[in-house]
Amino acid sequence: MRNEKMTDRDSETPQWITDQLDDPANQNNPLLPALKYLLEQDKEHRARMDRMLRISDGYGNLVHNQSLSLSQRYDKQLRRLEKITRISDRYQQEMMELNQSLRQAALHDPLTGLPNRRMILERMKSELARQDRGCARFSLIMLDVDHFKHFNDTYGHETGDAVLSKLAEVMQHTVREYDLCARWGGEEFLILLPETDLKTAQTTAERLLQTLRTSTLDEVFRSPDQPHTKLTASLGVATYQPDETLDEAINRADSALLIAKQNGRNRVELNLEHEDHPAP
Ligand code: GH3
Ligand code: MG
Ligand code: MG
Repeated sequence: MRNEKMTDRDSETPQWITDQLDDPANQNNPLLPALKYLLEQDKEHRARMDRMLRISDGYGNLVHNQSLSLSQRYDKQLRRLEKITRISDRYQQEMMELNQSLRQAALHDPLTGLPNRRMILERMKSELARQDRGCARFSLIMLDVDHFKHFNDTYGHETGDAVLSKLAEVMQHTVREYDLCARWGGEEFLILLPETDLKTAQTTAERLLQTLRTSTLDEVFRSPDQPHTKLTASLGVATYQPDETLDEAINRADSALLIAKQNGRNRVELNLEHEDHPAP
């Protein structure tokens, strides 16, 4: 806060005293020198006081300016910190999105968008872990498109690709929400059916076969005039047995698929090894 400066009126000798000093009637007053002396002293004190007030004002201004620039610097640092936080948040968000897309790419097949071999194996391992805690067993369906080489040769690889994508769509719509369809490789697909016995898995496989038989696949052919062919598949079904490895279970589904091929394709075959009461 700024001090008030002494006014001229304060620093001046009051008029009535000056009048008294100048009055010839007082010239012989013995107190006159003492009064003059005191007045001089008073003037000096006032001048000194004035100087001190000016110094004090200057010091006050300095402190005020310093604290002002300190708060400005603080505000600036705060704004920089906020900016850095925003950049860091955005960076973290981008990293999370990148991680998600990397994980998506690592676990999915780019052509069909289905989970890939790695992902279904992970899911099967977690099913196994659940089973260790006494949960129900799971079943597998291995599906292979019939005569797909011939299909490619007839309609071209591009149409073949479109068929595989369409097939993936049909399969996903046919199975239950918690079943997992994966592209096992080429024109081969593996379906995991958690907590499903052989009989129920067989029903799903038959339904899938029927859906494929009746699918028109119209949209995958380049022109409506192109001669269409019906696409069929062969399916092998196996149910996981507690004493076997995952590879053994997959191989048993694959063996059933091979039998389906040998028996004329366009059919479902079950692997009945380990089954106490084989399904009819
Ligand atoms: P089978 O009934 O015995 O299974 O006969 P197939 O012709 O289907 O079997 P084969 O193993 O002889 O041929 C598989 C064909 O699948 C050959 C290959 O070019 C084709 N194929 C595999 N992956 C793809 C793909 O991503 N796109 C296309 N268009 N074709 C593929
Ligand atoms: Mg095939
Ligand atoms: Mg094959």
